[in-house]
Amino acid sequence: MADLEFSNFIHNIIDKDLAEGRNNGEVYTRFPPEPNGYLHIGHAKSICLNFSTARKYNGKCNLRFDDTNPVKEDTEYVESIEEDVKWLGFSWDELRFASEYFDTMYECAVKLIKAGKAYVCDLSADEIREYRGTLTQPGKESPYRNRSVEENLDLFERMKNGEFPDGAKILRAKIDMSSPNINMRDPAIYRIAHANHHKTGDKWCVYPMYDFAHPLEDAIEGITHSICTLEFEDHRPLYDWVIRETGWENPPRQIEFARLNLTHTLMSKRYLKALVDNGDVTGWDDPRMPTIAGIRRRGYTPAAVRDFCERIGVAKANSTVDFELLEHCVREDLKDRTVSKMVVLDPIKVTVKNYPEGQTEYVEVENSKKPEDGSRTVPFSRNLYVDRSDFMENPMKGYFRLFPGNEVRFKGAYFLTCEEVIKDENGNAVELICTYDPETKCGGAFSGRKVKGTIHWVDADSAIPVTVNAYESLMTEDENGNQVLNPNSLTVFHGFAEPSLAELPEDERCQFFRHGYYIKDSKASKPDEAVYTRIVDLKSSWKPKK
Ligand code: ATP
Ligand code: MG
Repeated sequence: MADLEFSNFIHNIIDKDLAEGRNNGEVYTRFPPEPNGYLHIGHAKSICLNFSTARKYNGKCNLRFDDTNPVKEDTEYVESIEEDVKWLGFSWDELRFASEYFDTMYECAVKLIKAGKAYVCDLSADEIREYRGTLTQPGKESPYRNRSVEENLDLFERMKNGEFPDGAKILRAKIDMSSPNINMRDPAIYRIAHANHHKTGDKWCVYPMYDFAHPLEDAIEGITHSICTLEFEDHRPLYDWVIRETGWENPPRQIEFARLNLTHTLMSKRYLKALVDNGDVTGWDDPRMPTIAGIRRRGYTPAAVRDFCERIGVAKANSTVDFELLEHCVREDLKDRTVSKMVVLDPIKVTVKNYPEGQTEYVEVENSKKPEDGSRTVPFSRNLYVDRSDFMENPMKGYFRLFPGNEVRFKGAYFLTCEEVIKDENGNAVELICTYDPETKCGGAFSGRKVKGTIHWVDADSAIPVTVNAYESLMTEDENGNQVLNPNSLTVFHGFAEPSLAELPEDERCQFFRHGYYIKDSKASKPDEAVYTRIVDLKSSWKPKK
Protein backbone atom coordinates (compact mmCIF):
# COMPACT_ATOMS: atom_id res chain seq x y z
CA MET A 1 0.00 0.00 0.00
CA ALA A 2 1.38 3.37 -0.98
CA ASP A 3 1.78 5.93 1.78
CA LEU A 4 -1.11 8.31 1.99
CA GLU A 5 -0.11 11.89 1.48
CA PHE A 6 -1.63 14.00 4.17
CA SER A 7 0.24 17.20 3.86
CA ASN A 8 -1.61 19.22 6.40
CA PHE A 9 -1.47 21.49 9.38
CA ILE A 10 -1.21 18.53 11.76
CA HIS A 11 2.05 17.44 10.19
CA ASN A 12 3.31 20.98 10.44
CA ILE A 13 2.67 20.88 14.19
CA ILE A 14 4.43 17.53 14.47
CA ASP A 15 7.39 18.79 12.44
CA LYS A 16 7.72 21.70 14.84
CA ASP A 17 7.48 19.42 17.89
CA LEU A 18 10.17 17.20 16.44
CA ALA A 19 12.39 20.17 15.69
CA GLU A 20 12.00 21.32 19.28
CA GLY A 21 12.85 17.86 20.60
CA ARG A 22 9.49 17.27 22.28
CA ASN A 23 8.54 13.70 23.22
CA ASN A 24 12.09 12.43 22.58
CA GLY A 25 11.51 12.78 18.86
CA GLU A 26 8.76 10.17 18.87
CA VAL A 27 5.40 10.21 17.14
CA TYR A 28 2.75 8.00 18.67
CA THR A 29 -0.91 8.26 17.65
CA ARG A 30 -4.04 6.24 18.30
CA PHE A 31 -7.44 5.60 16.84
CA PRO A 32 -9.81 5.55 19.86
CA PRO A 33 -13.34 4.44 18.95
CA GLU A 34 -15.99 3.80 21.50
CA PRO A 35 -17.34 0.27 20.82
CA ASN A 36 -20.95 1.42 20.77
CA GLY A 37 -21.69 0.77 17.11
CA TYR A 38 -20.10 0.02 13.76
CA LEU A 39 -17.59 2.39 12.24
CA HIS A 40 -18.67 4.72 9.46
CA ILE A 41 -16.90 6.47 6.63
CA GLY A 42 -16.14 9.41 8.94
CA HIS A 43 -14.10 7.09 11.11
CA ALA A 44 -12.21 6.03 8.00
CA LYS A 45 -10.91 9.58 7.76
CA SER A 46 -9.63 9.42 11.32
CA ILE A 47 -8.15 5.95 10.80
CA CYS A 48 -6.31 6.98 7.63
CA LEU A 49 -5.05 10.13 9.31
CA ASN A 50 -3.82 8.49 12.51
CA PHE A 51 -2.25 5.42 10.94
CA SER A 52 -0.66 7.20 8.01
CA THR A 53 0.70 9.94 10.27
CA ALA A 54 2.42 7.32 12.40
CA ARG A 55 3.77 5.66 9.29
CA LYS A 56 5.05 8.91 7.84
CA TYR A 57 7.12 9.59 10.96
CA ASN A 58 8.19 5.98 11.55
CA GLY A 59 6.09 6.13 14.66
CA LYS A 60 3.40 3.96 16.14
CA CYS A 61 -0.37 3.91 16.22
CA ASN A 62 -2.62 2.03 18.62
CA LEU A 63 -6.13 0.82 18.18
CA ARG A 64 -7.71 1.72 21.48
CA PHE A 65 -11.24 0.99 22.51
CA ASP A 66 -12.58 3.80 24.59
CA ASP A 67 -14.83 1.47 26.56
CA THR A 68 -15.78 3.63 29.53
CA ASN A 69 -19.54 3.61 28.96
CA PRO A 70 -20.59 -0.01 29.61
CA VAL A 71 -24.31 0.41 29.01
CA LYS A 72 -23.90 1.13 25.30
CA GLU A 73 -20.92 -1.05 24.49
CA ASP A 74 -20.64 -4.56 23.22
CA THR A 75 -18.10 -7.14 22.04
CA GLU A 76 -19.90 -7.37 18.69
CA TYR A 77 -18.81 -3.77 18.07
CA VAL A 78 -15.26 -4.46 19.21
CA GLU A 79 -14.96 -7.28 16.70
CA SER A 80 -16.47 -5.32 13.83
CA ILE A 81 -14.16 -2.37 14.49
CA GLU A 82 -11.06 -4.57 14.41
CA GLU A 83 -12.23 -6.11 11.15
CA ASP A 84 -12.91 -2.71 9.62
CA VAL A 85 -9.52 -1.23 10.48
CA LYS A 86 -7.81 -4.28 8.99
CA TRP A 87 -9.98 -4.14 5.91
CA LEU A 88 -8.90 -0.54 5.34
CA GLY A 89 -5.36 -1.88 5.18
CA PHE A 90 -3.94 -0.75 8.52
CA SER A 91 -2.39 -2.67 11.37
CA TRP A 92 -2.06 -1.34 14.86
CA ASP A 93 1.03 -1.47 17.02
CA GLU A 94 -0.93 -2.26 20.15
CA LEU A 95 -4.51 -3.20 20.78
CA ARG A 96 -5.67 -1.50 23.97
CA PHE A 97 -8.83 -1.10 25.98
CA ALA A 98 -9.38 1.91 28.20
CA SER A 99 -10.94 -0.48 30.72
CA GLU A 100 -7.45 -1.93 31.28
CA TYR A 101 -6.62 1.39 32.95
CA PHE A 102 -9.54 1.59 35.36
CA ASP A 103 -7.25 0.98 38.35
CA THR A 104 -4.84 3.70 37.28
CA MET A 105 -7.68 6.08 36.55
CA TYR A 106 -9.16 5.45 39.96
CA GLU A 107 -5.79 6.17 41.54
CA CYS A 108 -5.51 9.39 39.56
CA ALA A 109 -8.90 10.45 40.88
CA VAL A 110 -7.79 9.69 44.44
CA LYS A 111 -4.66 11.72 43.78
CA LEU A 112 -6.79 14.69 42.73
CA ILE A 113 -8.95 14.37 45.84
CA LYS A 114 -5.87 14.29 48.05
CA ALA A 115 -4.56 17.42 46.37
CA GLY A 116 -7.88 19.17 46.99
CA LYS A 117 -8.60 19.17 43.24
CA ALA A 118 -11.68 16.97 43.22
CA TYR A 119 -14.77 16.52 45.38
CA VAL A 120 -17.81 14.35 45.71
CA CYS A 121 -20.98 16.24 44.85
CA ASP A 122 -24.53 15.26 45.81
CA LEU A 123 -26.36 17.67 43.51
CA SER A 124 -28.75 16.01 41.07
CA ALA A 125 -28.06 16.20 37.34
CA ASP A 126 -30.68 18.93 36.99
CA GLU A 127 -29.22 20.96 39.83
CA ILE A 128 -25.75 20.65 38.38
CA ARG A 129 -27.02 21.97 35.08
CA GLU A 130 -28.69 24.84 36.88
CA TYR A 131 -25.55 25.67 38.87
CA ARG A 132 -23.37 25.53 35.79
CA GLY A 133 -24.40 28.95 34.49
CA THR A 134 -24.38 29.95 30.85
CA LEU A 135 -22.03 31.42 28.29
CA THR A 136 -22.85 34.87 29.62
CA GLN A 137 -23.31 34.06 33.32
CA PRO A 138 -20.81 32.49 35.68
CA GLY A 139 -21.74 29.31 37.45
CA LYS A 140 -22.54 28.88 41.14
CA GLU A 141 -20.45 26.79 43.47
CA SER A 142 -21.89 23.54 44.70
CA PRO A 143 -22.67 23.43 48.44
CA TYR A 144 -20.55 20.25 48.52
CA ARG A 145 -17.53 21.90 46.98
CA ASN A 146 -15.70 22.42 50.24
CA ARG A 147 -15.96 18.97 51.70
CA SER A 148 -12.78 17.92 53.46
CA VAL A 149 -10.27 15.67 51.76
CA GLU A 150 -11.06 12.92 54.28
CA GLU A 151 -14.77 13.07 53.63
CA ASN A 152 -14.22 13.05 49.85
CA LEU A 153 -11.86 10.07 50.07
CA ASP A 154 -14.36 8.20 52.18
CA LEU A 155 -17.32 9.01 49.93
CA PHE A 156 -15.44 8.20 46.74
CA GLU A 157 -14.40 4.86 48.13
CA ARG A 158 -17.98 4.14 49.14
CA MET A 159 -19.11 5.12 45.64
CA LYS A 160 -16.69 2.51 44.35
CA ASN A 161 -17.92 -0.05 46.86
CA GLY A 162 -21.44 0.24 45.54
CA GLU A 163 -23.04 1.93 48.54
CA PHE A 164 -24.94 4.50 46.43
CA PRO A 165 -27.38 4.17 43.55
CA ASP A 166 -26.68 5.53 40.06
CA GLY A 167 -26.76 9.32 39.97
CA ALA A 168 -26.71 9.79 43.76
CA LYS A 169 -23.22 11.27 43.74
CA ILE A 170 -20.53 12.18 41.29
CA LEU A 171 -16.90 13.09 41.56
CA ARG A 172 -16.14 16.51 40.15
CA ALA A 173 -12.90 18.26 39.35
CA LYS A 174 -12.52 21.42 41.42
CA ILE A 175 -11.47 24.01 38.88
CA ASP A 176 -13.34 27.27 38.40
CA MET A 177 -17.10 27.85 38.41
CA SER A 178 -16.65 31.24 36.79
CA SER A 179 -14.37 30.12 33.97
CA PRO A 180 -15.48 31.49 30.61
CA ASN A 181 -15.03 27.92 29.36
CA ILE A 182 -18.01 25.98 30.68
CA ASN A 183 -16.07 22.73 30.43
CA MET A 184 -13.85 24.04 33.23
CA ARG A 185 -16.73 24.68 35.64
CA ASP A 186 -16.10 21.72 37.93
CA PRO A 187 -16.74 19.02 35.34
CA ALA A 188 -17.84 15.55 36.39
CA ILE A 189 -14.97 13.08 36.23
CA TYR A 190 -16.43 9.89 37.76
CA ARG A 191 -20.00 8.67 37.84
CA ILE A 192 -21.81 5.76 39.44
CA ALA A 193 -23.18 3.14 37.01
CA HIS A 194 -24.18 -0.25 38.27
CA ALA A 195 -23.68 -1.85 34.91
CA ASN A 196 -21.99 -4.96 33.64
CA HIS A 197 -18.98 -4.13 31.49
CA HIS A 198 -18.14 -6.30 28.48
CA LYS A 199 -14.51 -6.58 29.65
CA THR A 200 -14.43 -5.97 33.40
CA GLY A 201 -17.77 -7.57 34.27
CA ASP A 202 -19.08 -6.41 37.64
CA LYS A 203 -15.76 -5.31 39.07
CA TRP A 204 -16.61 -1.62 38.82
CA CYS A 205 -19.68 0.43 39.52
CA VAL A 206 -17.94 3.76 39.06
CA TYR A 207 -16.74 4.76 35.61
CA PRO A 208 -14.59 7.69 34.49
CA MET A 209 -16.12 10.38 32.27
CA TYR A 210 -14.74 10.85 28.77
CA ASP A 211 -12.96 14.14 29.52
CA PHE A 212 -11.11 12.59 32.43
CA ALA A 213 -10.48 9.18 30.88
CA HIS A 214 -9.27 10.22 27.46
CA PRO A 215 -6.21 12.27 28.44
CA LEU A 216 -5.21 9.57 30.93
CA GLU A 217 -5.53 6.86 28.27
CA ASP A 218 -3.30 8.91 25.99
CA ALA A 219 -0.77 9.57 28.75
CA ILE A 220 -0.64 5.95 29.90
CA GLU A 221 0.06 4.75 26.35
CA GLY A 222 2.67 7.41 25.73
CA ILE A 223 0.65 8.95 22.91
CA THR A 224 2.42 12.08 21.66
CA HIS A 225 -0.25 13.52 19.38
CA SER A 226 -3.87 12.93 20.26
CA ILE A 227 -5.78 13.75 17.11
CA CYS A 228 -9.51 14.31 17.52
CA THR A 229 -12.39 16.16 15.94
CA LEU A 230 -13.15 19.86 16.32
CA GLU A 231 -15.93 19.56 18.87
CA PHE A 232 -13.23 18.76 21.43
CA GLU A 233 -11.38 22.02 20.91
CA ASP A 234 -13.18 23.60 23.89
CA HIS A 235 -12.29 20.55 25.95
CA ARG A 236 -8.57 20.94 25.38
CA PRO A 237 -8.01 23.12 28.50
CA LEU A 238 -9.60 20.35 30.55
CA TYR A 239 -7.52 17.72 28.74
CA ASP A 240 -4.38 19.66 29.62
CA TRP A 241 -5.60 20.24 33.18
CA VAL A 242 -6.10 16.50 33.79
CA ILE A 243 -2.65 15.68 32.42
CA ARG A 244 -1.00 18.41 34.45
CA GLU A 245 -2.79 17.78 37.74
CA THR A 246 -2.26 14.03 37.63
CA GLY A 247 1.42 14.58 36.82
CA TRP A 248 2.75 13.10 33.61
CA GLU A 249 6.09 13.62 31.98
CA ASN A 250 5.96 14.06 28.20
CA PRO A 251 2.37 15.27 28.10
CA PRO A 252 0.44 14.34 24.97
CA ARG A 253 -0.74 17.15 22.74
CA GLN A 254 -4.35 17.23 21.58
CA ILE A 255 -4.87 18.44 18.02
CA GLU A 256 -8.32 18.94 16.53
CA PHE A 257 -9.37 18.62 12.89
CA ALA A 258 -12.68 19.00 11.06
CA ARG A 259 -14.81 15.89 10.98
CA LEU A 260 -16.01 14.49 7.70
CA ASN A 261 -19.54 15.37 6.69
CA LEU A 262 -20.96 13.90 3.50
CA THR A 263 -24.01 15.08 1.59
CA HIS A 264 -27.18 13.10 2.33
CA THR A 265 -25.31 10.85 4.74
CA LEU A 266 -25.94 10.27 8.42
CA MET A 267 -22.66 10.21 10.23
CA SER A 268 -23.18 9.15 13.79
CA LYS A 269 -23.22 5.70 15.30
CA ARG A 270 -26.21 6.67 17.39
CA TYR A 271 -28.38 7.57 14.39
CA LEU A 272 -27.14 4.63 12.39
CA LYS A 273 -28.01 2.32 15.26
CA ALA A 274 -31.53 3.74 15.29
CA LEU A 275 -31.91 2.84 11.60
CA VAL A 276 -30.81 -0.70 12.38
CA ASP A 277 -33.05 -1.00 15.46
CA ASN A 278 -36.04 0.40 13.56
CA GLY A 279 -35.61 -2.06 10.73
CA ASP A 280 -35.17 0.78 8.22
CA VAL A 281 -32.19 -1.14 6.87
CA THR A 282 -31.35 -4.85 6.88
CA GLY A 283 -28.48 -4.38 9.35
CA TRP A 284 -25.26 -2.50 10.02
CA ASP A 285 -23.89 -3.97 6.79
CA ASP A 286 -26.83 -3.02 4.61
CA PRO A 287 -25.16 -1.92 1.35
CA ARG A 288 -26.82 1.50 1.68
CA MET A 289 -25.29 2.16 5.08
CA PRO A 290 -22.31 4.55 5.29
CA THR A 291 -20.70 2.10 7.68
CA ILE A 292 -17.43 0.48 6.69
CA ALA A 293 -19.27 -2.87 6.86
CA GLY A 294 -21.94 -1.48 4.53
CA ILE A 295 -19.59 -0.03 1.96
CA ARG A 296 -17.53 -3.22 2.04
CA ARG A 297 -20.62 -5.26 1.23
CA ARG A 298 -21.59 -2.66 -1.33
CA GLY A 299 -18.36 -3.50 -3.13
CA TYR A 300 -16.37 -0.33 -2.48
CA THR A 301 -12.67 -1.09 -2.21
CA PRO A 302 -10.28 -0.16 0.60
CA ALA A 303 -8.07 1.54 -1.97
CA ALA A 304 -10.95 3.76 -3.08
CA VAL A 305 -11.77 4.74 0.49
CA ARG A 306 -8.14 5.58 1.23
CA ASP A 307 -7.90 7.58 -1.98
CA PHE A 308 -11.03 9.46 -0.94
CA CYS A 309 -9.62 10.24 2.50
CA GLU A 310 -6.44 11.51 0.93
CA ARG A 311 -8.28 13.74 -1.53
CA ILE A 312 -10.54 15.36 1.06
CA GLY A 313 -7.52 16.21 3.15
CA VAL A 314 -7.48 17.49 6.69
CA ALA A 315 -8.59 20.95 7.64
CA LYS A 316 -9.44 23.00 10.67
CA ALA A 317 -12.80 24.19 9.34
CA ASN A 318 -15.96 22.12 9.01
CA SER A 319 -17.33 21.51 5.55
CA THR A 320 -19.46 18.99 3.71
CA VAL A 321 -18.03 16.79 1.00
CA ASP A 322 -20.10 15.59 -1.95
CA PHE A 323 -20.90 11.92 -1.74
CA GLU A 324 -20.21 11.87 -5.47
CA LEU A 325 -16.52 12.35 -4.75
CA LEU A 326 -16.49 9.01 -2.93
CA GLU A 327 -18.27 7.38 -5.87
CA HIS A 328 -15.76 8.97 -8.22
CA CYS A 329 -12.92 7.39 -6.26
CA VAL A 330 -14.64 4.00 -6.47
CA ARG A 331 -14.99 4.28 -10.25
CA GLU A 332 -11.40 5.42 -10.62
CA ASP A 333 -10.24 2.36 -8.73
CA LEU A 334 -12.47 -0.10 -10.56
CA LYS A 335 -12.25 1.13 -14.11
CA ASP A 336 -8.95 -0.50 -15.00
CA ARG A 337 -9.35 -3.74 -13.16
CA THR A 338 -12.77 -5.10 -13.97
CA VAL A 339 -13.99 -7.20 -16.85
CA SER A 340 -17.28 -6.47 -18.47
CA LYS A 341 -20.34 -8.73 -18.79
CA MET A 342 -23.57 -8.28 -20.69
CA VAL A 343 -26.53 -8.13 -18.34
CA VAL A 344 -30.05 -7.04 -19.18
CA LEU A 345 -31.68 -5.55 -16.11
CA ASP A 346 -35.18 -4.85 -17.34
CA PRO A 347 -35.70 -7.36 -20.15
CA ILE A 348 -37.80 -7.09 -23.24
CA LYS A 349 -37.89 -10.02 -25.63
CA VAL A 350 -36.33 -9.80 -29.09
CA THR A 351 -37.10 -12.34 -31.79
CA VAL A 352 -34.74 -12.35 -34.77
CA LYS A 353 -37.21 -13.58 -37.31
CA ASN A 354 -34.76 -14.35 -40.11
CA TYR A 355 -32.36 -16.24 -37.84
CA PRO A 356 -32.79 -20.04 -38.05
CA GLU A 357 -34.87 -21.54 -35.30
CA GLY A 358 -32.93 -23.86 -32.98
CA GLN A 359 -29.53 -22.53 -34.08
CA THR A 360 -26.96 -21.07 -31.67
CA GLU A 361 -23.65 -19.53 -32.58
CA TYR A 362 -20.93 -18.14 -30.34
CA VAL A 363 -19.74 -14.62 -30.96
CA GLU A 364 -16.56 -13.17 -29.55
CA VAL A 365 -16.71 -10.24 -27.14
CA GLU A 366 -13.66 -8.55 -25.64
CA ASN A 367 -13.51 -8.64 -21.84
CA SER A 368 -12.48 -5.04 -21.42
CA LYS A 369 -10.89 -2.19 -23.30
CA LYS A 370 -7.49 -3.65 -22.48
CA PRO A 371 -6.33 -6.23 -25.08
CA GLU A 372 -4.46 -8.20 -22.40
CA ASP A 373 -7.77 -9.01 -20.73
CA GLY A 374 -8.65 -11.17 -23.74
CA SER A 375 -12.10 -12.12 -24.90
CA ARG A 376 -14.84 -14.66 -24.37
CA THR A 377 -17.60 -16.13 -26.49
CA VAL A 378 -21.25 -15.42 -25.92
CA PRO A 379 -24.15 -17.43 -27.37
CA PHE A 380 -26.39 -15.72 -29.94
CA SER A 381 -29.66 -17.11 -31.25
CA ARG A 382 -33.09 -16.21 -32.56
CA ASN A 383 -34.39 -15.44 -29.05
CA LEU A 384 -32.72 -12.62 -27.20
CA TYR A 385 -33.36 -10.04 -24.50
CA VAL A 386 -32.43 -6.38 -24.54
CA ASP A 387 -32.95 -3.70 -21.92
CA ARG A 388 -36.25 -1.92 -22.09
CA SER A 389 -34.42 1.40 -21.90
CA ASP A 390 -32.74 0.56 -25.21
CA PHE A 391 -36.06 0.72 -27.04
CA MET A 392 -38.35 3.68 -27.71
CA GLU A 393 -41.39 3.41 -29.86
CA ASN A 394 -41.39 7.13 -30.57
CA PRO A 395 -37.76 8.10 -30.25
CA MET A 396 -36.76 11.53 -29.20
CA LYS A 397 -34.20 13.40 -31.25
CA GLY A 398 -30.73 11.97 -30.91
CA TYR A 399 -31.91 8.53 -29.77
CA PHE A 400 -29.82 5.98 -31.66
CA ARG A 401 -30.95 2.77 -30.07
CA LEU A 402 -33.83 0.50 -31.06
CA PHE A 403 -36.98 2.01 -32.53
CA PRO A 404 -39.16 0.84 -35.36
CA GLY A 405 -37.20 0.91 -38.60
CA ASN A 406 -33.85 1.62 -36.95
CA GLU A 407 -30.75 -0.51 -37.23
CA VAL A 408 -28.27 -0.91 -34.36
CA ARG A 409 -25.31 -3.10 -33.57
CA PHE A 410 -25.80 -5.84 -31.04
CA LYS A 411 -22.46 -5.81 -29.24
CA GLY A 412 -20.10 -8.43 -30.65
CA ALA A 413 -22.77 -9.82 -33.01
CA TYR A 414 -24.72 -8.29 -35.93
CA PHE A 415 -26.66 -5.27 -37.07
CA LEU A 416 -30.31 -5.76 -36.22
CA THR A 417 -33.28 -3.76 -37.40
CA CYS A 418 -36.46 -3.41 -35.41
CA GLU A 419 -39.33 -4.33 -37.73
CA GLU A 420 -42.33 -4.65 -35.49
CA VAL A 421 -43.45 -4.09 -31.93
CA ILE A 422 -45.79 -6.53 -30.19
CA LYS A 423 -47.85 -5.08 -27.36
CA ASP A 424 -49.98 -6.43 -24.57
CA GLU A 425 -53.59 -5.43 -23.97
CA ASN A 426 -52.42 -2.30 -22.10
CA GLY A 427 -50.38 -1.12 -25.03
CA ASN A 428 -47.00 -1.92 -23.47
CA ALA A 429 -44.32 -3.29 -25.74
CA VAL A 430 -43.59 -6.92 -24.84
CA GLU A 431 -41.62 -8.15 -27.81
CA LEU A 432 -39.59 -6.67 -30.63
CA ILE A 433 -39.52 -8.50 -33.92
CA CYS A 434 -36.20 -7.81 -35.60
CA THR A 435 -34.19 -8.94 -38.60
CA TYR A 436 -30.44 -9.32 -38.69
CA ASP A 437 -28.05 -8.85 -41.58
CA PRO A 438 -25.70 -11.87 -41.75
CA GLU A 439 -23.12 -9.75 -43.63
CA THR A 440 -22.55 -7.49 -40.68
CA LYS A 441 -21.01 -9.94 -38.24
CA CYS A 442 -18.67 -8.17 -35.88
CA GLY A 443 -15.00 -8.66 -36.70
CA GLY A 444 -15.85 -9.42 -40.35
CA ALA A 445 -15.06 -7.42 -43.48
CA PHE A 446 -18.39 -5.65 -43.76
CA SER A 447 -18.06 -1.92 -44.36
CA GLY A 448 -21.22 -1.20 -46.32
CA ARG A 449 -22.90 1.09 -43.82
CA LYS A 450 -22.52 2.32 -40.30
CA VAL A 451 -24.90 2.41 -37.36
CA LYS A 452 -24.87 4.91 -34.55
CA GLY A 453 -25.87 2.70 -31.64
CA THR A 454 -24.35 -0.37 -30.02
CA ILE A 455 -26.43 -2.10 -27.39
CA HIS A 456 -25.97 -5.10 -25.13
CA TRP A 457 -28.16 -8.17 -25.17
CA VAL A 458 -28.31 -11.74 -23.89
CA ASP A 459 -29.39 -14.99 -25.47
CA ALA A 460 -32.73 -15.95 -23.93
CA ASP A 461 -32.19 -19.71 -23.85
CA SER A 462 -28.83 -19.73 -22.08
CA ALA A 463 -29.13 -16.55 -19.97
CA ILE A 464 -28.96 -16.89 -16.21
CA PRO A 465 -31.59 -15.09 -14.19
CA VAL A 466 -30.15 -12.52 -11.79
CA THR A 467 -31.65 -10.30 -9.16
CA VAL A 468 -29.99 -6.92 -9.11
CA ASN A 469 -30.21 -4.43 -6.28
CA ALA A 470 -29.66 -0.90 -7.51
CA TYR A 471 -29.07 1.44 -4.61
CA GLU A 472 -29.49 5.16 -4.29
CA SER A 473 -28.54 7.18 -1.25
CA LEU A 474 -30.25 6.03 1.94
CA MET A 475 -31.10 9.54 3.05
CA THR A 476 -32.47 12.46 1.15
CA GLU A 477 -33.54 15.97 2.06
CA ASP A 478 -37.19 16.93 2.44
CA GLU A 479 -38.56 20.35 1.44
CA ASN A 480 -37.33 21.82 4.74
CA GLY A 481 -33.84 20.52 4.24
CA ASN A 482 -34.19 17.81 6.89
CA GLN A 483 -32.62 14.45 6.31
CA VAL A 484 -35.27 11.79 5.80
CA LEU A 485 -35.18 8.24 4.52
CA ASN A 486 -35.11 8.12 0.73
CA PRO A 487 -38.11 6.02 -0.34
CA ASN A 488 -36.25 5.13 -3.54
CA SER A 489 -33.03 3.93 -1.97
CA LEU A 490 -33.48 0.45 -3.45
CA THR A 491 -34.72 -0.63 -6.85
CA VAL A 492 -34.79 -4.36 -7.50
CA PHE A 493 -34.40 -5.69 -11.05
CA HIS A 494 -35.05 -9.22 -12.20
CA GLY A 495 -32.83 -9.52 -15.20
CA PHE A 496 -30.77 -11.91 -17.25
CA ALA A 497 -27.01 -12.25 -17.59
CA GLU A 498 -24.82 -13.92 -20.16
CA PRO A 499 -23.79 -17.38 -18.91
CA SER A 500 -20.16 -16.48 -18.22
CA LEU A 501 -21.16 -14.26 -15.30
CA ALA A 502 -21.56 -17.43 -13.24
CA GLU A 503 -17.88 -18.26 -13.81
CA LEU A 504 -16.59 -15.12 -12.11
CA PRO A 505 -15.12 -15.71 -8.67
CA GLU A 506 -17.72 -14.97 -6.01
CA ASP A 507 -16.12 -11.74 -4.76
CA GLU A 508 -14.87 -10.34 -8.06
CA ARG A 509 -16.25 -7.00 -9.06
CA CYS A 510 -17.21 -6.55 -12.71
CA GLN A 511 -18.81 -4.11 -15.08
CA PHE A 512 -22.25 -4.75 -16.41
CA PHE A 513 -21.65 -3.35 -19.86
CA ARG A 514 -23.22 0.11 -20.18
CA HIS A 515 -24.69 -0.09 -16.65
CA GLY A 516 -22.02 0.25 -14.01
CA TYR A 517 -19.97 -1.76 -11.56
CA TYR A 518 -21.45 -4.71 -9.73
CA ILE A 519 -20.55 -7.37 -7.20
CA LYS A 520 -22.31 -10.50 -6.10
CA ASP A 521 -23.99 -10.12 -2.73
CA SER A 522 -23.12 -13.51 -1.33
CA LYS A 523 -25.05 -12.82 1.86
CA ALA A 524 -28.29 -12.18 -0.02
CA SER A 525 -27.81 -14.80 -2.76
CA LYS A 526 -29.45 -18.21 -2.52
CA PRO A 527 -28.49 -21.38 -4.40
CA ASP A 528 -31.24 -20.73 -6.94
CA GLU A 529 -31.04 -16.93 -6.97
CA ALA A 530 -27.89 -14.94 -7.64
CA VAL A 531 -28.17 -11.45 -6.20
CA TYR A 532 -25.93 -8.66 -7.45
CA THR A 533 -25.34 -5.26 -5.97
CA ARG A 534 -24.75 -2.13 -7.96
CA ILE A 535 -21.56 -0.68 -6.55
CA VAL A 536 -21.79 2.51 -8.56
CA ASP A 537 -23.13 3.44 -11.96
CA LEU A 538 -20.90 4.47 -14.82
CA LYS A 539 -21.70 8.09 -15.17
CA SER A 540 -20.39 10.68 -12.86
CA SER A 541 -22.09 13.92 -12.10
CA TRP A 542 -18.98 14.88 -10.23
CA LYS A 543 -16.20 16.64 -12.12
CA PRO A 544 -12.76 17.27 -10.67
CA LYS A 545 -12.34 20.93 -9.79
CA LYS A 546 -9.85 22.70 -12.00
P1 ATP B 1 -20.18 8.80 16.55
O1 ATP B 1 -21.01 9.98 16.82
O2 ATP B 1 -20.39 8.26 15.19
O3 ATP B 1 -20.25 7.77 17.63
P2 ATP B 1 -17.77 9.55 17.75
O4 ATP B 1 -16.88 10.70 17.46
O5 ATP B 1 -18.52 9.56 19.02
O6 ATP B 1 -18.71 9.35 16.52
P3 ATP B 1 -15.84 7.63 18.42
O7 ATP B 1 -15.99 6.16 18.43
O8 ATP B 1 -15.68 8.31 19.71
O9 ATP B 1 -17.05 8.18 17.62
O10 ATP B 1 -14.72 8.09 17.42
C1 ATP B 1 -13.45 7.54 17.26
C2 ATP B 1 -12.63 8.54 16.52
O11 ATP B 1 -13.18 8.80 15.23
C3 ATP B 1 -12.58 9.86 17.26
O12 ATP B 1 -11.26 10.32 17.29
C4 ATP B 1 -13.47 10.75 16.44
O13 ATP B 1 -13.07 12.08 16.54
C5 ATP B 1 -13.29 10.18 15.03
N1 ATP B 1 -14.45 10.48 14.20
C6 ATP B 1 -15.74 10.19 14.46
N2 ATP B 1 -16.55 10.67 13.49
C7 ATP B 1 -15.75 11.28 12.59
C8 ATP B 1 -15.98 11.99 11.36
N3 ATP B 1 -17.21 12.16 10.86
N4 ATP B 1 -14.91 12.48 10.70
C9 ATP B 1 -13.68 12.29 11.17
N5 ATP B 1 -13.39 11.66 12.33
C10 ATP B 1 -14.41 11.15 13.03
MG1 MG C 1 -19.49 8.72 20.46
